[in-house]
Amino acid sequence: MATSGGGNVRNGTHNYRSSLKSDRPLSANSNLKNHVKSKPLSSTGQRRNSTGTIGSASAASKDDDGVPGRVRVAVRMRPRNAEEMVADADYADCVELQPELKRLKLRKHNWDSETYEFDEVLTEFASQKRVYEVVARPVVESVLDGYNGTIMAYGQTGTGKTYTLGRLGEEDTAARGIMVRAMEDILAVVSLETDSVSVSYLQLYMETIQDLLDPANDNISIVEDPKTGDVSLPGAKLVEIRDQQSFVELLRFGEAHRFAANTKLNTESSRSHAILMVHVKRSVKGRDSGLSSENGNHSHMIKSLKPPVVQKGKLVVVDLAGSERIDKSGSEGHTLEEAKSINLSLSALGKCINALAENSAHVPFRDSKLTRLLRDSFGGTARTSLVITIGPSPRHRGETASTIMFGQRAMKVENMVKLREEFDYKSLSRTLDIQLDTLSMEHERQQKAFEDEIDRLSREAKCQISEAEKQYTDALEKERLKYQKDYSEAVKKLEEQMVMVQQKNENSHPTSSGELSAKEVADLKKLLQKETLSRKAAEEEVNSLKIQVTDLKKSEASGKSEILKLHKKLEDEARQKEKLQGDIAILQSQLLQLSIEADETRRQLDRGGSAKDASGPDSLSSQVKQQPPSGNGEKASIAKLFEQVGLQRILSLLEAEDADVRIHAVKVVANLAAEETNQEKIVEAGGLKSLLMLLKSSQDEIIHRVAAGAIANLAMNETNQELIMAQGGINLLSMAAANAEDPQTLRMVAGAIANLCGNDKLQTKLRAEGGIKALLGMIRCKHPDVHAQIARGIANFAKCESRASTQGMKTGRSLLIEDGALPWIVQNANNEASSIRRHIELALCHLAQHEVNAKHMITGGAVWELVRISRDCSREDIRTLAHRTLVSSPTFQAEMKRLKIVL
Ligand code: ADP
Ligand code: MG
Repeated sequence: MATSGGGNVRNGTHNYRSSLKSDRPLSANSNLKNHVKSKPLSSTGQRRNSTGTIGSASAASKDDDGVPGRVRVAVRMRPRNAEEMVADADYADCVELQPELKRLKLRKHNWDSETYEFDEVLTEFASQKRVYEVVARPVVESVLDGYNGTIMAYGQTGTGKTYTLGRLGEEDTAARGIMVRAMEDILAVVSLETDSVSVSYLQLYMETIQDLLDPANDNISIVEDPKTGDVSLPGAKLVEIRDQQSFVELLRFGEAHRFAANTKLNTESSRSHAILMVHVKRSVKGRDSGLSSENGNHSHMIKSLKPPVVQKGKLVVVDLAGSERIDKSGSEGHTLEEAKSINLSLSALGKCINALAENSAHVPFRDSKLTRLLRDSFGGTARTSLVITIGPSPRHRGETASTIMFGQRAMKVENMVKLREEFDYKSLSRTLDIQLDTLSMEHERQQKAFEDEIDRLSREAKCQISEAEKQYTDALEKERLKYQKDYSEAVKKLEEQMVMVQQKNENSHPTSSGELSAKEVADLKKLLQKETLSRKAAEEEVNSLKIQVTDLKKSEASGKSEILKLHKKLEDEARQKEKLQGDIAILQSQLLQLSIEADETRRQLDRGGSAKDASGPDSLSSQVKQQPPSGNGEKASIAKLFEQVGLQRILSLLEAEDADVRIHAVKVVANLAAEETNQEKIVEAGGLKSLLMLLKSSQDEIIHRVAAGAIANLAMNETNQELIMAQGGINLLSMAAANAEDPQTLRMVAGAIANLCGNDKLQTKLRAEGGIKALLGMIRCKHPDVHAQIARGIANFAKCESRASTQGMKTGRSLLIEDGALPWIVQNANNEASSIRRHIELALCHLAQHEVNAKHMITGGAVWELVRISRDCSREDIRTLAHRTLVSSPTFQAEMKRLKIVL
């Protein structure tokens, strides 16, 4: 309240200055908060008509209630300008400032003055910096701490409102005004990553809000939140500020537009209000918001899923229109209505402040746009600083006085300053999303690492197993090779000894050679014992490997499945061992057989003669058995061999790696196959298959020979013949026939095919698969034994064919003739070897029995041979057959007539 006559009644006892931190840099955790909190809180939350009781104590309030904060008012006087220097030269200033007392004396008359107290009194010498710190900085700090703040300049046109608020200070840094300095402080504190600063800049003129940042936008409406009463301008352009420079440019742009707009409207900027709004949104750090624990304990983080807190402070800087009464400005040329409208907002502001100052029940905020916009600044929740500007000239004493009165009233307005913070659910959700991503990435990584680890372990286990396997295999292989080598050596030794025996025998001392053989047998027995010992050693090795495997098992407690695999391998190895033992048994029996053979040789030598070949035409058995059984002793030994060793093992030796072993095994099988009683067993045990396989896979002619011999023996019964055919035997035999050179091999092959030729059912198949051609192909070998088998085959085939023709199952010419056998037949019909001749004679008779063959036979010269047979054949049955055939065939009859042959 003004007091006259220099009274010391003050309108406030609060030391405004004490709350300022003019020389301290701003920080996010500035003391301002402490400052606010240390202030007495209103227990009622009501506006108080305080006259400076801000320092006094009161009860604490809930968070939601604000803290009382009176509108602060500073007065600033402009220095005299050049014009005033001249015009007012003779007059004293109407105002006297007492800054140290925060008092202002307004001279009424030369002899009287009124004294007013303000929160701050700024003389004409006050620097812009000081004005900022005194008037604006506390508000800016509040805004940074999440409160709304207002800084406003009120005063007559030309007193320095714009100078105080809006100077850009580009020409002189010290001249920077409050807007520029405020933004500097804001930008220095906020974090561009987490916080945001955005700005809108408006002009209010004749109750119209224009956007200074978007010239086209010239009628922005005010929107009020019905719940909170907060006002906003959604239509105003909001520009995000990231650096000071862009802000200064924005201000310049806005100012230029303000100037242009006012020119266009024929107005002055002094009649419009400029409003800068700075929205500061800051996320609060250091609180239990969950934001800070991104790298920390996740479970803790998840437990405290409180959304982060954001503080939203809004700084409103208002450069009001000139406060002088409109009719006084004179130069504007507006109608009265216009003038009313021009001044509406400012006078409404005055009315509101009056009402607030007087604590009236009704405050007419709704009367103007300015008061609606500034509702929060006066009597609301904002921290508000007002600077009233005055000039020194006594010519404007009236305006100066009214400005001072405005300031005095404003000082009585009490706000309830309220923290503007809210939970930022969006940002929480964003943070949680990031955390989720991070966790799922981490999970993926761990999963991969886990899988890799499993892979690595199983690889290691596999390596160990294969290592163990390898050791096993190596050891077994070593043993096997050793046995095979020993065996070969034994055989070689035996052969050498046999040669020696023979030589000695030539020198004829049968008894001594017999003794020598006995000695050899003894040697061999020793050898056998040695091998038994080696086998034991092998077994021991197997045992030690078993122990190794067990150890491995123990050390591999983690990989149970691997251990199971290892077990299985162990069993396999045990089986292998068994097989090896079987092999050893076979070798034993082979040794046994050798000893029998040696015995036999000795006996033959003893007898001084050799066994004669007793082969008959229909059996190769004795031929295959190079030494036919000549006594109960050997039959017994073969039986024993069979018994001891087992057929399966003998057959398995057919696949032995060592060629000698294979040959020997084939020989044994061939020998066995010569016995009719064994044939079925051999076939059952897969021997036939193995023999055919040998024909196919082996390159060795000896093997071919012996295998073919064995096949020939097996081919003596009908079932086996069919099996041989079914398993592709003809092809294999044909191949062997084509490749063999040795007459004995060809004899065996031919013998086998010959046997097959005797099967009625197989005729067509045999011929189709080239059996006859193969047979005829072997003619190239001149050996009579081979030719005898070919002849036998042809005879067999002709016989079956004849039977089929007689039964009407075959028509057409003989397949033998078709395959070109006739010339050879005719040629050999009178072969001096009876084994050939007999078969051919028979074959000719069979062919001749069918008229369909007759013509060809005649052309081929067979008539003469048939006639000869009918006359000279030593076997009567054949002779008769030939005769009857010739007589009964009309074709032959005709030919004989032509040739004048009479039977
Ligand atoms: P308003 O905005 O109140 O109409 P201005 O800020 O435009 O007044 O000031 C009018 C004139 O006075 C300008 O030329 C300005 O530079 C000058 N002026 C105002 N205040 C000061 C001050 N404190 N020191 C120096 N010059 C000032
Ligand atoms: Mg101005």
